[in-house]
Amino acid sequence: RFDVSKPWLNRVLEREERQYLTATADVNFSIARGETFALVGESGSGKSTIAKMIVGLLPPSEGQILFDGQDMGKVGTSELRALRRRFQMIFQDPFASLNPRWRVGDIVSEPLRTFGLAKGAEVTREMERLLDTVGLSARDAEKFPHEFSGGQRQRIAIARALSAKPEFIVCDEPTSALDVSVQAQILNLMRDLQDEMGLTYLFISHDLSVVRHMATRTGVLYLGRLVEVSEGKSLFRDPQHPYTKMLLDAVPDLALSGRRRTPVTGEIPNPINPPSGCPFHPRCPVAIDKCKTDVPPSFQTPNGSAACHLLG
Ligand code: SF4
Ligand code: MG
Repeated sequence: RFDVSKPWLNRVLEREERQYLTATADVNFSIARGETFALVGESGSGKSTIAKMIVGLLPPSEGQILFDGQDMGKVGTSELRALRRRFQMIFQDPFASLNPRWRVGDIVSEPLRTFGLAKGAEVTREMERLLDTVGLSARDAEKFPHEFSGGQRQRIAIARALSAKPEFIVCDEPTSALDVSVQAQILNLMRDLQDEMGLTYLFISHDLSVVRHMATRTGVLYLGRLVEVSEGKSLFRDPQHPYTKMLLDAVPDLALSGRRRTPVTGEIPNPINPPSGCPFHPRCPVAIDKCKTDVPPSFQTPNGSAACHLLG
């Protein structure tokens, strides 16, 4: 179980802009064992920042991240090392995350050695088993990443993540760089692996079709705020927050029976200087006066919660 507490205010140094910005504010969610919690939002919503903080690549400046009740910000180096084995990350661009000078066999077996999970001949046997698990063959162990297609590289990255024997995998746009047909294969592989191994996923994507395929629960992020959380597929059937409705309306192939479409309008504001009140108010088609001044609290909805004054 992962608990991310509020207020979770994180300041990230934007190197180009030399400015501090609040990437994620007021984000509060828990992830239960075996579920796929999806985070959706446009670029700049803070999705990747949350992913990095969860796997310990970026420290939150305030708030807490609890893994199985342990505060990630307070554990010592050796405990953190042990925790790091238990959660792994799969990135959007597998090529960037695979060392181009290493053979695939070395890439996949590196966590086995690092975490002392196998010795001697066991390392090779386990590495070959992992390649087989993700649909590659033992022969591929001798090759280099550039000899593979994008989808195959993502299989290599998945095999490497699995070799650490993780419980929890953060997947940051894992199929966004792939062709649609290849996307489906990788997503199905990830679902099969989850069933076989009881994995828990935090699944980050801007693509609602992909999220609908994967999520057992979905959170919608807007400018670093979680504006709606919804169980199962209900987000897609019965969205509650005006921003969620707008996002869904932007996807033509999602069946939206009987609901009036809201046109997608406006640009995502600069996160360095977010709007007052409800951060969505400049783009919201149903905003009322107090949206400009008052931050909406989170209200219970039939299938979760949403932060909008109209739901109170
Ligand atoms: Fe729109 Fe107001 Fe609801 Fe924000 S609080 S989503 S501006 S109606
Ligand atoms: Mg991102």
